[in-house]
Amino acid sequence: MPELPEVETIKRQLNRKIKGKKIKSVKINLPKLVKYPLKKFKNLVKEVKINNITRRAKLLIVELSNNYYLIIHLKLSGQLIFNGIISKHTHLVYYFTKKNILIHNDVRQFGFVKVISKDELDDFFEKERFGPEPLSNKFNLKLFKELLLKRKKSKIKIILMDQKFIAGIGNIYSDEILFFAGVLPSRKVETLKNNEIKRIFQGIKEILKLAIKKRGTSSRDYFDIYGKKGNYVPLLKVYQRGGKSCFSCKSKIKRIKMGSRSAHFCPKCQK
Ligand SMILES: [Zn+2]
Repeated sequence: MPELPEVETIKRQLNRKIKGKKIKSVKINLPKLVKYPLKKFKNLVKEVKINNITRRAKLLIVELSNNYYLIIHLKLSGQLIFNGIISKHTHLVYYFTKKNILIHNDVRQFGFVKVISKDELDDFFEKERFGPEPLSNKFNLKLFKELLLKRKKSKIKIILMDQKFIAGIGNIYSDEILFFAGVLPSRKVETLKNNEIKRIFQGIKEILKLAIKKRGTSSRDYFDIYGKKGNYVPLLKVYQRGGKSCFSCKSKIKRIKMGSRSAHFCPKCQK
């Protein structure tokens, strides 16, 4: 699933490519993708300019010039490709001109596009109750410690992936952050020492920033808006490396089930 670095990459690229452009029309091939009456949706975006694209957690927020917002969640396999080739997995096409289009693909079809008016926007995000943005200045070590105190009995990997605890981190980067910190994913928060908390905090900041720089991780379906893969895969230390040897100590990377997800870790480097 695209996580913060992937969605942030898409957001930045969309701002370069479609900000200021006017949507001439849309074509909807998969009605369930659009969580709004289809006819109304088509009329609502017609001849409307894209003012800005922002991100909150893993959501893209497309600000339109008519005081409406498109909220796009790519979920497991969504892709937004500028001037991409339309295929059977293309469920929505935005036409800017005949040649310039943005296509929304989604093989697994879990993603969605919602429409929200300016008045509803604050309410929408209040209901979502997202935790802080990990790369914001507001998210500092003091706040991280305060939040951890409320979740003492939880396993550290589980809360790193909990969008209500902290926004934007999923399976890939929680594994990588915990390897960076040398902390096992199954550790309960109450057992973490001060220096371990500090290293996890550092890992959150450093790994997410580096992953954005590399335009994300293409381990499965993720492509940026140019249809290019992200370059973080060669930097992965544990994620999807189960059975392979650790780059630091040569031990075998382990993979265990954790809730409905799997955690990857080095049994020697992580305590
Ligand atoms: Zn190791």
